[in-house]
Amino acid sequence: MRYHKSVSSGILNMALPASWYALLDPPSSRESQSGSGGESGREPRAQSGSVATFNANPDRTLLRRYRDSGHTSISRMMEGHEVTVPKHNNKPVCLVWALKGECSATCKRKNQHVRYSQATNEAISQLLSDCGVAPAGSS
Ligand SMILES: [Zn+2]
Repeated sequence: MRYHKSVSSGILNMALPASWYALLDPPSSRESQSGSGGESGREPRAQSGSVATFNANPDRTLLRRYRDSGHTSISRMMEGHEVTVPKHNNKPVCLVWALKGECSATCKRKNQHVRYSQATNEAISQLLSDCGVAPAGSS
């Protein structure tokens, strides 16, 4: 009896790793073996479900300053800087909208996807300066 029990548990131990492999093996690794290659390094995450809206009236100076700053994201640009996001209609503006000229239709600040006043744009310009971004036209 005792012997029979250990044999059945031995079978279990052999069966488990095989099923783990099936779980751990990502389907993409199988695809890349049989596929024709040419995988782009891009993540498809941004494409699913997010529709871009374009700022038809951006402040070109702000766009250029942000682009020339070389920052990959606005949150990274603001990292470590004590700055307050300027407001429009008493609500924080969408900096992505103002600095990139386009944003997502599902943005939590999509109500702020409007044309900002000169004063607001100047406040955003000041924010860039506070984050250490070089002033416009210094190239
Ligand atoms: Zn936005």
